[in-house]
Amino acid sequence: MIPMRCVVVREHGSYDQLRLEERPVPQPGPLQVRVKLAAIGVNHLDTWVRRGVPGHTFPLPQILSSDGCGTIDAIGQGVANCKEGDEVVVLPGVSCGVCESCQSGVDHLCRHFHILGESGDGLCAEYAVVPAANVAPKPRTLSAPEAASICLVFQTAWNMLVRRAELRAGETVLVHAGLSGVGSAAVQIANVLGAQVIATAGGASKCAKVKTLGAHHVIDYQTEDFAASVRKLTGKAGVNVVFEHVGQATFDGSLRCLARGGRVVTCGATTGGTVQVSLHSVFFKSLSILGATMGSKGDLRQILRLFDQGRFHAVLDRTLPLEKVGEAHRLLETRAAMGRIALVP
Ligand SMILES: [Zn+2]
Repeated sequence: MIPMRCVVVREHGSYDQLRLEERPVPQPGPLQVRVKLAAIGVNHLDTWVRRGVPGHTFPLPQILSSDGCGTIDAIGQGVANCKEGDEVVVLPGVSCGVCESCQSGVDHLCRHFHILGESGDGLCAEYAVVPAANVAPKPRTLSAPEAASICLVFQTAWNMLVRRAELRAGETVLVHAGLSGVGSAAVQIANVLGAQVIATAGGASKCAKVKTLGAHHVIDYQTEDFAASVRKLTGKAGVNVVFEHVGQATFDGSLRCLARGGRVVTCGATTGGTVQVSLHSVFFKSLSILGATMGSKGDLRQILRLFDQGRFHAVLDRTLPLEKVGEAHRLLETRAAMGRIALVP
């Protein structure tokens, strides 16, 4: 039995719960492939799995991480869509493939849907076995660490803006934390859709970086009240769509920012998930509050094609060796990174 190194969470807690362990290299079963990972993306989701979420049970112990890029080095029986030696990215959402949701192209709504590294072993390892349906060619424009940093966040942001909020060319969108994982994806997607993009960021250097991603205006939330700034920037009209993932700290302001008929779409609540909503403003202003989590594999394949065409860019801050996974979590949690962090096994 050949051993491999992997990062396993056995109990929730701080960085010391990120254990570098050895496990046997997994073997692919029918319709599965084995990926020799070249890089692993670190997401906020990883930090939640490590810390634990009140009221939610993670199946511990498990190997962390949902995003990865590597080379197929073994294939199981019946696999026809790829072969050994292919450079691939891993699509993080696993679904049954046979239910109505799956076959309607909304596999993220499948009752058996789960995310690698959240409800089962993930990719923070030297090797991982995944369904053959969950690999796609690596965009040629990206390095392995870049390609390992895009799937989860772009898939989520695309689903929020394109499918849920139906953002259209000429509309104005506010993107919170435009240099965060989902934020930096949202700024680029909104720009490609032809929307006017207002983003927030903390500090001058982050604001400047968000501008390079295609934001037309950037609000420094450390020195400005974002809701007041949006009001000023839009001539009191407000924005058509707010891209929310911050939660408690911003949600009230996000609702106040909306124009009549506006939509707020949320995928997260990093500062807390309990908020107050004035129903008066919801009905008087005809507002929509939309939730979203993940997105479909079909949409993700389209996103990867846009990367291949050079329309989207990965925003990578740095790569770290696998054993520095704790440092990667710390950088993410303290918002010290200027973009994504990837681990190299
Ligand atoms: Zn299904």
